[in-house]
This record gives sequence, C-alpha cells and structure tokens, in this order.
Amino acid sequence: MAIESEVVVVGGGLAGGFAALAAAREGADVRLLSYKQSTLAQASGLVDVLGYTPDSDRPAADPFEAIPSLAEEHPYRTVGVDGVREAMAVFDEVADRYRGAHTDRNALLPTHGGTIKPTARYPAGAAAGVASDERDALLVGFEALVDFDAPHAAAHLEAAGVPFDVSGATIAFPGGLAADAKVTRYAKLLDEDAPVETGTGATRRARSALASAVQPHLDGAERVGFPAVLGDDDPAAVRESLETQLGVPVFEVPMGPPSLPGLRLEDDLYAALDAAGVSMETGNPVVDYEPDGERGSEGRIASVSIDRNGASIPFAADQFVLATGGLVGKGIGSDRERVEEPVFDCHVPHATDRYEWFDTDAFGDHDFARFGLPTDDDLRPLDARGGAEFENLRAAGSVLGGYDFAAEKSGSGVSIATGHAAGAAAAEAVR
Ligand SMILES: Cc1cc2nc3c(=O)[nH]c(=O)nc-3n(C[C@H](O)[C@H](O)[C@H](O)COP(=O)(O)OP(=O)(O)OC[C@H]3O[C@@H](n4cnc5c(N)ncnc54)[C@H](O)[C@@H]3O)c2cc1C
Repeated sequence: MAIESEVVVVGGGLAGGFAALAAAREGADVRLLSYKQSTLAQASGLVDVLGYTPDSDRPAADPFEAIPSLAEEHPYRTVGVDGVREAMAVFDEVADRYRGAHTDRNALLPTHGGTIKPTARYPAGAAAGVASDERDALLVGFEALVDFDAPHAAAHLEAAGVPFDVSGATIAFPGGLAADAKVTRYAKLLDEDAPVETGTGATRRARSALASAVQPHLDGAERVGFPAVLGDDDPAAVRESLETQLGVPVFEVPMGPPSLPGLRLEDDLYAALDAAGVSMETGNPVVDYEPDGERGSEGRIASVSIDRNGASIPFAADQFVLATGGLVGKGIGSDRERVEEPVFDCHVPHATDRYEWFDTDAFGDHDFARFGLPTDDDLRPLDARGGAEFENLRAAGSVLGGYDFAAEKSGSGVSIATGHAAGAAAAEAVR
C-alpha cells in the first residue's frame, strides 16, 4: 500500500523546501522526499537573485528591473517579476537572520577570494562587511584554514578599488586546532566559549582569546572580517561578544564548502517546514515512479518509490514537484552520450554532438551550464514535441534549464522563486 499525500515534493534543497512550504501554507497535505544533503552545504549562504545579465559585464544594480530583459526560456520569465517578489517575501519571513530586504538593489559583498559579489540577501553576520561601506577593514584568517588567505583577499579587494583601506592578517586560532581544522570545530569552540590554551600556556575562554590575538593587528581598522566560522548555534552571540571586546563591528566573509551560513539557512528552512506540518523522509533516493495512463499531457504520475535498504516504498499523491537539483546535485545526469533526468526520464534538450556542449574558451558560454528541463507556463516539464510530460508534474530549481546560475549569479533566487511557484500551483491543483 502506498503512503498517501496530496502533494509529494522530490528533493530537499532550496527549491524543494520552498515548494513544500508554499504547498503546505496553501493547506495541502505535503510530503517531502529527499536523498542527500543539498548544495546549501557547498554554497556561500548568499542568496543571489540576479547579479549579472548575459549582455553586460557590470553587476546588475536592480535584479527585479533586469528580469524582463532575460531570454524567454529563463525560469524567471516563467514565474514573472511578481512571482519572484512573492517568493522572496516568503524567504524574508523564513530567514529572519538575513538582510537586504529593505531595497530592490543588490548589495556588494566581499568573497573569501577577495572579489566583490552582487547579491540580493546576505546573512546578518556579513552585513558589516558590505563593500559600499567606507570604513577601513581588517581581514583575519587562521593559519590552519587555508581556504581563506586574508592578506591575499585584502590585496585583491584593494586592487578592485574598494572605497576603504583594507589589510589582512593571519593568526593562529587559539586552542591549537591545526590538526582538526574543520569549520564546525571553530564554530563549536566559539559557540560554547570553551576554555582554550593560549600561546603562553594559560587557559582562557575562546572568544576573549581570539579577540586578544586580533587586537595587535587592528591598527585603526574600523571593522574586522573573519572567515564564516563564528558560531553555528548562536552566531549573533559570538559576533556580539567579539565586537564588545574588539570595540569595532565584526563580520563574516562567506566561504566555500562546507559553508556554515548555508547550513544555518538549511536549519531555518527545515524549521519552517516543520512548523508548516510538512512530513519529511530523508536519506533515501526516489528511484522509480508508477504512471497512471500514457505519458503526455493527459497522463499522470500515480506514485513514486524510494529505495530504503533494497526495499521499494511507494508514495502516492495527486500532485508531484521535481526539485532534485542540477548537474551538481545529480538531478541532471550526463555521460559521454547523453544528458538525462534520472527520476522521470523527462526530456533534457542537448546537442547530439557532445563537442557542442562546451565552448572552446574555458571561460566562454557553455551550453552545458544551461542544461535542464524546459517547462510550460505552469512549470510542467515539456517533452521533445513541446507537450507536458505529465499532467500532474511540476519542476523547480536547478533541475530547470535555460539559465546559467554561475555566470549570472541567480542560483538561490531561481530555486526559491520556482520552488514557491511550483508548490503553490500544486496545492491549487489539489483543490
Ligand atoms: C559551490 C557552489 C556555490 C554556490 N554559491 C552560491 C551563491 O553564492 N549564491 C547563490 O545564490 N547560489 C549559489 N549556488 C547555487 C545554489 O546553491 C543552487 O542553485 C541552489 O541551492 C540549488 O537548489 P536546488 O534545491 O535546486 O538543488 P539542490 O540544492 O541540488 O537540492 C537537490 C536535492 O534533491 C536531492 N535529490 C537528488 N536526487 C534525488 C532523488 N532521486 N531522490 C530524492 N532526492 C533527490 C538531493 O540530495 C538534494 O538534497 C552555489 C552552488 C554551488 C554548487
């Protein structure tokens, strides 16, 4: 017997999460099936809506204003500017430790590589680091955390022409973490304000030991940036304590994987899903589906099945949302011959000659970056003839084609906007 719900969402990243949330808030009985950790653990935690348009090298000042100029097949054109705004309003409610909602304009944030990134929403912990702020800054890196080279990042920012002086210092993190330099270890020490041994052999609390190690490098800096390791459970308390001891605002610089800001956002999203009554089943992949009738605009999906330790468990629903991610998350698979969507075998347009998938210039415009599902106006995946694959299937997030999230800096925004729209439409179809 299949487990019954009104809406089943496959995939638990930003797209699946916002789809499930929208459907549940519309009153549907929703089940979310997800396999592994989403790309949030790898992403910076910045929530981009649209940083660049294809026709310009300059950052887009206002992503909402730029959306109508995107190609017709872009997912934002399907959802529309109002749809993107509606979804971002839900994001702002869910992620109340984010900033940037006060304006339509992109903020400019420093990255751990010392570049400047346009983004629509950023964690409160990164707020004092915005690059339009003219206060002089000190960046502090830790010897064992080689992903963030503070002097190098500072030099890059200066070369980029930021309107403030910036210097970098590398220090040993108090407590001798060199042999176990995971970002979660730094965060835990600071969360707990645990006792650590300083260089002189004395024992002090982690936060004050860190502030003391930074103090000699301050040299008039009016704000201090650290890699994003300042606490996992209560980053605001860690920041506030460092600010009090250093006497200047403190900010986190978004980092690559594993990304604490991304994981904190995932926690907030899952708390909202819990509160909305979404049933969640994680850790097992959806591997199969049962059709109800022929494939096509009249055909429907009756159920999907997960593989739990070799046993096939079916989940039936009236409506389904596919949010399994793109090439990174394995929602889109590829080998030398073809590009495919592995759960429902939906059509993924691509040239038969794989040499056409790539541009000869490594930094060029690669077709594969836009690989994914085409949809109709209701986000239903389309087959090769342009008809809906199934009457009751919608797709959201990076499983969709027609946009290059890395080039245009739109990854999270597209997943949130299309997830929200697909979930709301699924719930409406149930009524
Ligand atoms: C390194 C990196 C850095 C990034 N930095 C940024 C950034 O700074 N700003 C920004 O806005 N965006 C960034 N992005 C992009 C952004 O993170 C993604 O576009 C967005 O999070 C994708 O969300 P998603 O839900 O569509 O897919 P995913 O996050 O990939 O989630 C898909 C989920 O589906 C699950 N799944 C897959 N197959 C199955 C199956 N068969 N059964 C059940 N579950 C399944 C996966 O396990 C996963 O949990 C970055 C991405 C990467 C990779």
